[in-house]
Amino acid sequence: MIDVVELTAKLIQCPTVTPREAGALKLIGKLFENTDFKIHSIDRGGISNLFLRWGEKNLPTLGFSGHIDVVPPGNLAKWEYEPFSGKIVGNVLFGRGAVDMKSAVAAFCLAAIKYSKKSQPDFSIALMITGDEEGEAKDGTQAILDWMTDNDQRIDHCIVGEPTCPKTFGEVMKIGRKGSMTCTFKITGKQGHSAYPHLAINPINAAMELLNHLIRTELDNGSKFFEPSTLVITSISANNNTNNVIPSEVTTSINIRFNDNHTSDQLTQKIKKLSQEISNKTKTHVDLDFRVSGEPFYTEPTNLAKLVKQSVKKITGVEPAFSTSGGTSDARFIYKKCPVVEFGLVGEKMHSINESVEISQIFELEEIYLDLINEHARHFKNSF
Ligand SMILES: [Zn+2]
Repeated sequence: MIDVVELTAKLIQCPTVTPREAGALKLIGKLFENTDFKIHSIDRGGISNLFLRWGEKNLPTLGFSGHIDVVPPGNLAKWEYEPFSGKIVGNVLFGRGAVDMKSAVAAFCLAAIKYSKKSQPDFSIALMITGDEEGEAKDGTQAILDWMTDNDQRIDHCIVGEPTCPKTFGEVMKIGRKGSMTCTFKITGKQGHSAYPHLAINPINAAMELLNHLIRTELDNGSKFFEPSTLVITSISANNNTNNVIPSEVTTSINIRFNDNHTSDQLTQKIKKLSQEISNKTKTHVDLDFRVSGEPFYTEPTNLAKLVKQSVKKITGVEPAFSTSGGTSDARFIYKKCPVVEFGLVGEKMHSINESVEISQIFELEEIYLDLINEHARHFKNSF
């Protein structure tokens, strides 16, 4: 059988910049051809995804989730090796997706096949592989989860293979993530001559007042599993290149990463109220546009999280800390179905030029996932 590093390199050679499948899912389909896994293709909105299951769907099921799409390589001239070459130099594998996250997909696929060939199907493994995580993520994991609901396909626990370790392999696993939302304010005043400000209504002044208020507001002090929530200004623009005109309009955006002290609805209501107050006070008109990428969630650090911790420690010798830091991942959709924990490689080089990973880590990751399947089967065979 192909080894996990060779498989990762082959996946890297498929240039799967979202939304392109570029042969990667076909390659995975082929890998499972002579196994007892059932393969389901789930296509929606121009995105291809796969769902694979070994064992009957009513059995206790451990799920794995990962994406094969990658972000664009950026400036090609700056890459030491061609980004879709999957080149191995010494102990290092180079290429876009080496860390985020073709190696984890290769690792859980091979671990699952190895387990299935040696075991009785008195337990089930489900693999969810999406082509839309780095993009809008509307037709990726969400499409798989919708298909699962329609086809009565359940899972009891899920591991997401996103990179989770900051520097040393094994040091961090994620048991949750903050929520993320963006609000864009379009503030309209009254255009005028900058020498006669009393005749105009300057929307920039209103924006300053609003933003000052927002960034000075302490959202919370953190919670049991989370760091404090944060709010940052991400853009401000009046599109004004003159010095003698007060513009009529300014647009500004904020991004909030919030913990379980809040919901996006509560934050939306607070921002609406504040905007109304500023609008009344400054005689401007404020239009609001909210985009919510995900609500905060966490999985109690018990059953599933404990098993992951044990397997990581057994293979790497490092005891992983439970964390809820970082951006969003597909775990934000999966937690609605079942407890979900994330563990993967060292994420330092993800999305960067010369993305690369030590191949010994990829071999260890496969061992960790295989150990986890064994332990999960042992603990949960009869418990759901
Ligand atoms: Zn990723």
